Amino acid sequence: MRLTLCPLFSGSSGNSIYIACGGVRILVDAGMSAARIEAHLREIGVDIREIDAILITHEHVDHVRGLGVLCRKYGLPVYANEGTWDGILLRESGIPLRCVRTFYTGEDFYIGGVNVHPFPIPHDANEPVGYSFAFKGLRCAVATDLGQIQDTWMHAVTGCQAIVLEANHDVEMVNRGPYPSHLKRRILGKKGHLNNADCARALLSLVKSGTQAVFLSHLSQDNNLPELAYNTVCEALCDAGYVVGEDIRVTVSRRDRVSDMLVLECGE
Ligand SMILES: [Zn+2]
Ligand SMILES: [Zn+2]
Repeated sequence: MRLTLCPLFSGSSGNSIYIACGGVRILVDAGMSAARIEAHLREIGVDIREIDAILITHEHVDHVRGLGVLCRKYGLPVYANEGTWDGILLRESGIPLRCVRTFYTGEDFYIGGVNVHPFPIPHDANEPVGYSFAFKGLRCAVATDLGQIQDTWMHAVTGCQAIVLEANHDVEMVNRGPYPSHLKRRILGKKGHLNNADCARALLSLVKSGTQAVFLSHLSQDNNLPELAYNTVCEALCDAGYVVGEDIRVTVSRRDRVSDMLVLECGE
């Protein structure tokens, strides 16, 4: 039994994550052009036509940019809640009806044998969600675009062996940076994005619950640096007595390139 997890793009310029498990292939978000998503999938040996479902977290353009074209070209089923569909269809009217699948936030559903749990997250979109996936003994989750640590989403991702977790910015860099004050307030706000220190704090509690691998994701181009996100998280883990690379694998998701693939296996 194996689970494959691989961010294809990550950051405010576009997000898409490939997850394969139990013969099911899923994309979480399609925030890059269809052509680039197809190209990055090809790099890991996957044809876009083999994708069973696209799951959308929320309607911001860095999560849905390629969706219209992918739907029209390949007729792939797309799962989102009602609020997110409202947001998507405002901007993108050409999505064929046969592609539309709607779920209720908080209610599990299945794609093939994979259990999908969509959970609410604090972010400034219509009805944003994260996802956790379970198949036999394997569990992973995607949680980005999080304004703050909250029990609801922490509870939903607790016990996952692997997680794609937001490490959006360094608070100092935002405060000192060139962004206008309304944008700074948005990023730092309770419905904005998760900073490096909070990401580390969340991860510390997840490691105790059995998380063995994390992709630090959705890094800001202007308010973060890959090594800063990595060091902040690793220092917190080391201070708590964990050995990075042994107790937990820490990977920074790449902005424009396919990240190092993670394969989890369990017996059976
Ligand atoms: Zn967003
Ligand atoms: Zn985003």
